[in-house]
Amino acid sequence: MAEAQSASGPAGKLVIRNVGLLLSGDLRRPILDADTVVAVDGRITAVGKAQDVDSEGARTVIDARGTALAPGLIDSHVHPVFGDWTPRQSQLNWIDSFLHGGVTTMVSAGEVHLPGRPKDVVGVKALAVTAQRAFEAFRPGGVKIHAGAPVLEKGMVEEDFRELAAAGVRLLGEVGLGGVKSGEEAKRMVAWARKHGIQSTIHTGGPSIPGSGLIDKDVVLEADADVIGHINGGHTALPLDQIRCLCEQCGRAIEIVHNGNEKAGLYALRTARELGQLERVILGTDSPAGSGVQPLGILRLIALLSSLGEVPAEEAFCFATGNTARMRKLDAGLIEPGRAADFVLLDKAQHSAGKDLLDSVRLGDLPGVGMVIIDGQVRIGRSRNTPPAEKVAEVVAAKH
Ligand SMILES: [Zn+2]
Repeated sequence: MAEAQSASGPAGKLVIRNVGLLLSGDLRRPILDADTVVAVDGRITAVGKAQDVDSEGARTVIDARGTALAPGLIDSHVHPVFGDWTPRQSQLNWIDSFLHGGVTTMVSAGEVHLPGRPKDVVGVKALAVTAQRAFEAFRPGGVKIHAGAPVLEKGMVEEDFRELAAAGVRLLGEVGLGGVKSGEEAKRMVAWARKHGIQSTIHTGGPSIPGSGLIDKDVVLEADADVIGHINGGHTALPLDQIRCLCEQCGRAIEIVHNGNEKAGLYALRTARELGQLERVILGTDSPAGSGVQPLGILRLIALLSSLGEVPAEEAFCFATGNTARMRKLDAGLIEPGRAADFVLLDKAQHSAGKDLLDSVRLGDLPGVGMVIIDGQVRIGRSRNTPPAEKVAEVVAAKH
């Protein structure tokens, strides 16, 4: 069932019925009282009880068989380069593997692993535009990759940001990975980027690999990027008092990554909760990286934060969906009319001690992915990477 529909052309009408648990992605109301989702040509058109929604004339009907439906997961921090290949670990098809971990959208934090990456301003801009174009046109398994994220290099002027924005660049790679490492210089460039509609992320903590550097809380506060990138380090975390200070004094997104310090990640989560600001928490893998590539990284973070961080599992799913979509201004991440029809269907893994999906995640187990849908099209059935789901959704009718 790997390619149930062609990846091109409108998806027509999709009806998913018999959903056992509907996870909305919205922290204010993480579980919806609904069992049916309808989408037309890749957009959600209705969410509700079967008897209340119009499910006539569907091209594709899916029986969720009582399993859970969540928005497709969003990885807020990846480092793609070209194609479905990473030179970092010489690995092919890593993006397709993430699809099997429920990820339907990725946000680049910089294409910094390109061997011989240009560091002059013209080269930085050319790479950003090329990456933006290439990943706009190339979507392995349908995964949406928002790329073209230049890192700040010395000598960039406001005109460069205007030019990048006009060319379609919407993101900055991690501030601090390029030559600009001082708070003052970063602040000026981040402000130019923001003025021209380009969102920014800052590297937080010690150097990741030889060649990157320390960014401490003073630099993060001064630069004032839109996302406190890997607040739990990538891997080396700042001292916990600095992490607290960032949560308290910088109102920006708090990004927790898989390839970071888990203790620091749990501390950031608890601090955000104490502040009553869980809506700021977003998740990424920060991969490919020295630690490798983690197809299940977002699911693993959800299980970690729910089990050890004692956050209800339905809320932990919101960190990787609705929260990220809001912070990153994406049209996915929530189950509501008008949003992209990007879904992951899940069930508790076979032989988990949990009594149901949410309980299994609270116990620290990974869920089993049974199906992934992007833009209203079925992309995969049972995941090749997660532990097997107890029950799996199935396509019961498909007209072509
Ligand atoms: Zn980093």
